[in-house]
Amino acid sequence: MEFLNTREFAQQLDAKDKLAKYRDEFLFPHVNGKQVIYFTGNSLGLQPKRTKAYVDEVMDDWAKLAVEGHFYADKPWWDYQERFAAPLSKIVGALPSEVTVMNTLTVNLHLMMVSFYQPTAKRFKIICEEKAFPSDQYMIKSQVRFHGLEPEDAIVEIKRRPGEHNIRLEDILDTIKQVGEELALVLIGGVNYYTGQVFDMKTITKAGQDAGAYVGWDLAHGAGNIHLELHEWNVDFAAWCSYKYMNSGPGNASGLFVHEMHHNDLDLPRFSGWWGHNKERRFLMEPNFDPVRGAEGWQISNLPILSLAPYLASVEMFDEIGMPALIQKRDNITAYLEFILHEIDREVNGHFEIITPSEPKERACQLSVFLHGEGRQLFDYLMKNGVITDWREPNVIRLAPVPLYCSYEDMYQFGQVLKAGILSHKK
Ligand SMILES: *Cc1c(COP(=O)(O)O)cnc(C)c1O
Repeated sequence: MEFLNTREFAQQLDAKDKLAKYRDEFLFPHVNGKQVIYFTGNSLGLQPKRTKAYVDEVMDDWAKLAVEGHFYADKPWWDYQERFAAPLSKIVGALPSEVTVMNTLTVNLHLMMVSFYQPTAKRFKIICEEKAFPSDQYMIKSQVRFHGLEPEDAIVEIKRRPGEHNIRLEDILDTIKQVGEELALVLIGGVNYYTGQVFDMKTITKAGQDAGAYVGWDLAHGAGNIHLELHEWNVDFAAWCSYKYMNSGPGNASGLFVHEMHHNDLDLPRFSGWWGHNKERRFLMEPNFDPVRGAEGWQISNLPILSLAPYLASVEMFDEIGMPALIQKRDNITAYLEFILHEIDREVNGHFEIITPSEPKERACQLSVFLHGEGRQLFDYLMKNGVITDWREPNVIRLAPVPLYCSYEDMYQFGQVLKAGILSHKK
């Protein structure tokens, strides 16, 4: 499509946008009395207006029913998590039995490593990406040390080539081949949090498994953002947080995927608790653990219902819209933002560089922009003028034009603020 950098053109795109009505379903912060342009839905998604009713319902049930709420609330608490199975499985391309919600992301990745990282003298290496999200780096190092190994020996980082911003698929596949029989686990962020690069999960999963390893994905930036077929791709496990693209609120519950092929493997080590126990027999308080044959078999504690309520509101909204419609708008609005950035860059004589891959298959809802020159000042200018972006050292702002609540006119307006900011700092 031919894009134009005009307000009228952006408004025309909004008028044709089938998802435009959802913008009204979200609560936006205000700066100087005006609704902000929100580019940080990849960090903390906005609050949907419908969420409050879900939380109020739990508060009311607790007030009126107290302990009886476990069984007699309209949405009983004891199996509240089951409400997620159908809609969430569609979002990540799984069977309903393969997904559940519990804990938080890093905790779930630790629990997955308990099951899927069992190093032996021969097979003990983990492949991850260079400059992974810090929590993932700390987690992997601590797991390696927990097994009495040294991170320098056990962790193999896939590096970017000098002068390149993104990791090449061929380099990942070559590394998997080289590590070969020593490879125990491949654990990578499916969408890189810094550059927005989307990895070819299907190909990498197959390559890792062909080498005899397990393959898991951190989908913090993937869930609710990209097309996923975790079951079909034969992914061993995955986990994601729900407060980024899935708008469940700060620090809320994480989603978990464990492939069906592992559900009946009772030899897999796992840290267990009563909420993973055979559901019919959970309240018999038996001494021996008999896991649910599904992702729920990895549950530990009874669930934080007040944290799940906003996530349920969100999952039902995603179900209503469907990932295909969301992805279609995502690609279009991201392309429009890219166009606007290039236009403004031309008008101000070259100030920044988009480090996210330009190939649509390798990116989703994020453009990371390397600002040459006055980075931090420009970021502050944007914030003061109602454009919420996020700053990463050394000189990068990340922009996520979330298709659920960002408009095309936002992209146009952002371009105008950006241009004014650059010109005011050049003087
Ligand atoms: C956001 C994010 C996290 C956050 O982990 P929490 O345990 O939810 O604090 C972890 N990994 C990646 C890749 C992320 O983007």
